[in-house]
Amino acid sequence: MKKTSRILDGTKIAAEIKAEVAAEVAALGADGITPGLAVVLVGHVAASEIYVRSKVRTSAELGIWSEMLTPPESITTDEMLALISDLNARDEVDGILIQLPLPAHVDTRRLLEAVSPEKDVDGFHPVNAGRLQSGQPGLRPCTPAGIMEILRRSGLPVAGQHAVVLGRSDIVGKPAAMLLLHGSATVTVCHSKTVDIGRYTRDADLLVAAIGKAGFVTADMVKPGATLIDVGINRVTDAADVERFFPGDAERAAQFAKRGSTLVGDIHPAAFTLAGAYTPVPGGVGALTIAMLMHNTVKAAKARRGPAAQHAAADRS
Ligand code: NAP
Repeated sequence: MKKTSRILDGTKIAAEIKAEVAAEVAALGADGITPGLAVVLVGHVAASEIYVRSKVRTSAELGIWSEMLTPPESITTDEMLALISDLNARDEVDGILIQLPLPAHVDTRRLLEAVSPEKDVDGFHPVNAGRLQSGQPGLRPCTPAGIMEILRRSGLPVAGQHAVVLGRSDIVGKPAAMLLLHGSATVTVCHSKTVDIGRYTRDADLLVAAIGKAGFVTADMVKPGATLIDVGINRVTDAADVERFFPGDAERAAQFAKRGSTLVGDIHPAAFTLAGAYTPVPGGVGALTIAMLMHNTVKAAKARRGPAAQHAAADRS
């Protein structure tokens, strides 16, 4: 009889992490410290507004103080630099999050580099990327850190596994590959210039797909029993695609009829049936990202002004 694939429930794992973060916030509160997060949302990008609202709401649920700054679309790079410099200087702000994408006329790279690495809760600053590469403590990018939490909390092995990462973005692919390497996996990174991707994916014990192409990884590309981590979030709006990805799935068909769209990852759902374990879309990796942002905010608060940081400062003085 065929063994059924294990679903890695990202929503449940995210809830566990959020409960732990809330407990840490309460403990810091006893020392008179309330972790603070500043979220900068430039202009009006509908998807960004939804993400930011969700980040602010989750902060409040966990007892993290948050402030939302909403400069207009017309803001210049220099004005943004001044705003970031102000946030860097404010002691009650532990984390600074610049919601991407920014308008094309501002210099995104320069702005991300202007955020103090100690407050870079997205983990995008080159200093934090360097700390990750060299295995030093630092703030890790939220989505790759969430992937590692899913694996760890689900008791899935990393050391000695052949991990294949599809995608090499600075936000997901590269840091995910680096974290897996630090976990002693043997890592292969594939990208848009890789010839015959299936050759690598078929050998993967652990496959992380982060390319942004709906259902790219098909069943013939995966090793039976592999762990499949699907980072992709692709909105499908064509009824034929819904039928192609979810044939005979009444629940998806009803959702599509109601909303006019549904979400598909980078892995074709048919491939999940071969997996040992897999993250669904939605409800997998995506659920972890905000939980890890909250984790990073508390980590940044503790590192800068928690009891251990205060003792270290007292020892130095
Ligand atoms: P990205 O910056 O667009 O990078 C995509 C990567 O995929 C690039 O490295 C690109 O290769 C590679 N790629 C594109 N087409 C490919 C193909 N046909 N074959 C092989 N590789 C290909 O995207 P991202 O920000 O990393 O995001 C990737 C996906 O994850 C998206 O669906 C995004 O929505 C999702 N995401 C989810 C979360 C979450 O919370 N779950 C967070 C972030 C992103 P090149 O480098 O050669 O161009």
